[in-house]
Amino acid sequence: MSLYLKNAKYLDWQTFEITAGHLLVEEGNSGKVTSVNQIPEQSELAAEDRVIDCQNRLVTKSFGCGHHHIYSTLARGMPAPKKIPTNFQEILTYIWWTVDKCLDLEMVEASALASALYCAKNGVTFVIDHHASPYAIEGSLATIAKAFDKVGLSHLLCYELSDRDGQAIADAGLAEHESYLSGGGQGHVGLHASFTVGDELLTRAVELATKYNTGLHVHVAEDKSDQDACLKDYGKRVVQRYADAGALALPQTMLVHCIHLDESEKELIRTHGSWVTENIESNQNNNVGQANYGQITDKVMLGTDGMHSDMLRSAKAAFLSGQPLEGVGMDTIYDRFRNVHRYIQQNGFKGDGDNNLVILDYDAPTEVTSANFIGHFIYGLDSRHVNTVIANGRVIVENGLVTNVDEEEILAHASEMGNKLWKKMGES
Ligand SMILES: [Zn+2]
Repeated sequence: MSLYLKNAKYLDWQTFEITAGHLLVEEGNSGKVTSVNQIPEQSELAAEDRVIDCQNRLVTKSFGCGHHHIYSTLARGMPAPKKIPTNFQEILTYIWWTVDKCLDLEMVEASALASALYCAKNGVTFVIDHHASPYAIEGSLATIAKAFDKVGLSHLLCYELSDRDGQAIADAGLAEHESYLSGGGQGHVGLHASFTVGDELLTRAVELATKYNTGLHVHVAEDKSDQDACLKDYGKRVVQRYADAGALALPQTMLVHCIHLDESEKELIRTHGSWVTENIESNQNNNVGQANYGQITDKVMLGTDGMHSDMLRSAKAAFLSGQPLEGVGMDTIYDRFRNVHRYIQQNGFKGDGDNNLVILDYDAPTEVTSANFIGHFIYGLDSRHVNTVIANGRVIVENGLVTNVDEEEILAHASEMGNKLWKKMGES
């Protein structure tokens, strides 16, 4: 199949160079985008070829999410927990560990499909997810992968290993990674956080990640309590513990949050060149504090932590919240927004080639140029401007509508699964 984009205003995501003309988008994992002088006549096109008239709209690289939790999708609007949490540990106990314990594979599938739908409509074509469903582990990663594939998204998955539910569930989590990664699935080895992961599980996780040439994906010092527990149980700080276990030596390792780090930990992250993921809206929501990422490293990417699937929103939140603490510049936030592509490319993961694009129906009140694009990115562009989305050279959203799946059907089923989940939670 050949996909032609007629009358495109193509914006290079790295140089901001804007080129008006026609594009040919190749299909496949590392398909190229090339400029063409002419769109072939209808008679010259094969039956499966497509021509989309962009009507001089902006076309640029689509977006990636550096940290998502599809497992939280059905929590939206759920009844109040048995106890209103007053701190981070209670947020986990009364909200998230109640939700994830009640998930079955049918709910996981519904959650993944609904999240994938939102990602696609927001122009996000690559998702790095961190999953938990302790009583439905076996087959969970393949279920999520299948749902993402159905919508047309690329993905990097893992299961959130933890000792919080006992040895058998920790073992099942390891087995799920082994099964998914050995079957050719693209993923990390996931860990919940230091305070729920014992030394044996950490060692086995690093061994597994090493075996499959990947890294760990773990929450790090999201709340101060993670550091307190680590100092008490292991006599060292969290990042030191991961460094000692060999996790930072793996270039694919992702350290999520990193709110409460001391200077020695920041130095360890810089020395190892580890990637850090910022999820500012989640940190604000959980009232756990905020990091000055600029003082840690420039290898920072953005995620949503499962709160939503809109990376343009995450970028704006990171910019506004970064003002008082970091005095962060628009260019730095744009880099953090785009660093997910650098992370994927640096580590050889597939599914984020040049042929992942968004066509933006951007109703700008002023001229958009190479020189001022970042100002439009921060103050103007948002997800309502995402008109058409191309993933691996295939159209997955056209004129705001998903093309591969039935949106109404997915949301109706998700709603049914949400009611099933809430009922189960009420009975637990
Ligand atoms: Zn998270």
